[in-house]
Amino acid sequence: MISEKASDLHFSSVVVDTHSDSLVWPTRHSVDIGVRQQQAQLDLPKMNEGGQNVQFFACFASPSWIPKKKVVQVTLDYMDSFHTLMANYPGHIEQASTADDVRRIRDFGKLAAILCVEGGHSIDGDLSILRMYHHLGARYMTLTWNNTNGWADGVLGEPTHLGLSNFGKEVVLEMNRIGMLVDISHVAPSTFWDAINTTRKPVIASHSSAKAICASPRNLDDEQIRAVRDNGGVIGVNYEVTFVNEAYRLAKDSVAVEKQESLKKARKDFKSGSEDLLNVETEIEKKFEEKFAEVSKPKWEEIVDHIDHMVTVAGVEHVGLGSDFDGATMPEGMEDCTKVPLITQELLKRGYTDGDVRKILGENFMRVMDAGMGI
Ligand SMILES: [Zn+2]
Repeated sequence: MISEKASDLHFSSVVVDTHSDSLVWPTRHSVDIGVRQQQAQLDLPKMNEGGQNVQFFACFASPSWIPKKKVVQVTLDYMDSFHTLMANYPGHIEQASTADDVRRIRDFGKLAAILCVEGGHSIDGDLSILRMYHHLGARYMTLTWNNTNGWADGVLGEPTHLGLSNFGKEVVLEMNRIGMLVDISHVAPSTFWDAINTTRKPVIASHSSAKAICASPRNLDDEQIRAVRDNGGVIGVNYEVTFVNEAYRLAKDSVAVEKQESLKKARKDFKSGSEDLLNVETEIEKKFEEKFAEVSKPKWEEIVDHIDHMVTVAGVEHVGLGSDFDGATMPEGMEDCTKVPLITQELLKRGYTDGDVRKILGENFMRVMDAGMGI
C-alpha cells in the first residue's frame, strides 16, 4: 500500500527509467506492448499505473547468437518496433530526443520514450552507422555489452584492447559531438576508466548497481561511483536479483556449477542404447531448477539499499533508476513497473526529502540529458 503523500509525490514527478529490454516483445515475439500483456514487466498500461513516465527502450542484438553480419539488421528491427509503437499509440506515448521534448510530452500527459542501443558491437565498427542510429533517435549507447567488441573490452569478454582502442576513443568523442550519451554499464573496468578519461560530457551507467553490496562484475565499485560523480554523470540502479543480493548471486552460481558437473557426469556415464540421455538431462535440469527455487529471492527494499549506498558514496545528485525490466529477474515485490511507487515510499520512509526523491526519480537524469544530448 502506498501512502497518499508518497503517491502524490511519485505521480507528480518526472520518473525516468534508464533501461528496459521491453522492445524484445514486439521484435522477437510479435507481442504488442501498447496493451497490457501478462508476460511483460513493462507495457504502456503498466507504465501509466506505475507513474513511470520516461522510458529508455534498448535495442539489443545479442552477440551470443546473432551472427556479426546480421547485427545491424537486428538493431534496426528493434528501432522499427519502437517507431511502430509510437505510430500505433500516438495518444499515449511519444518519442523524445531531448530533455525539453520530455517536458513538452509530459505537459500533454503522455509517456515519453527514448531509444538507446545496448552494445557498441551494434555499430559494426562504423561511425556512419552510429550517426544513423542517432538520427533514428538513439540517445545513449553502452560502449559494450558483456562481450568485447572490435574497439572496447566488455566486462565478461576477452581483455583485448586493455580498455578502449584508438577507434573506441573516437567513438566516445563522436557520441559527445552528436549528442549521444556514453553509457558505461556492461564495460570492463579498463574501458570504464578510458571512457571517463576521454569523454567531454557526463557519462551514464544506465543499469548497474553497487559492488560494495553485491560483487557481481556488472556492478560498480565505490571508486567508479565517485568517478561518475566527479564527471557529473548518473548511475541508474539495476533491480536484477543477482546484482542486488550477494548471497543470492553466490547461491545461483554454485547451483549452476553443480548442475554443470551433474550433466557432465551423466554424459560420461551414459552408455549408448542403455537409456535415453535426453531424459536424463531433462531430469537433472528439473532437479536443479527445483533446488534453486528453494533459495529465497531478495526483497524489493534491497533495491533501495543500493540507492542509499550510492548516495552515501557520491551524493544524491548522481543516482537514478535503471530497472532492466524485461531483461532481468525482479526481486520479490517488484514484479513489474506498476510497483515502482514503492521505491518513492521507501525513500521517504528512510528520511529523504521530497526534493531528493524527485532527483533520484528523474531530475538527475534530466540534468544529464540537458548536458549531454545537445549538440
Ligand atoms: Zn544490459
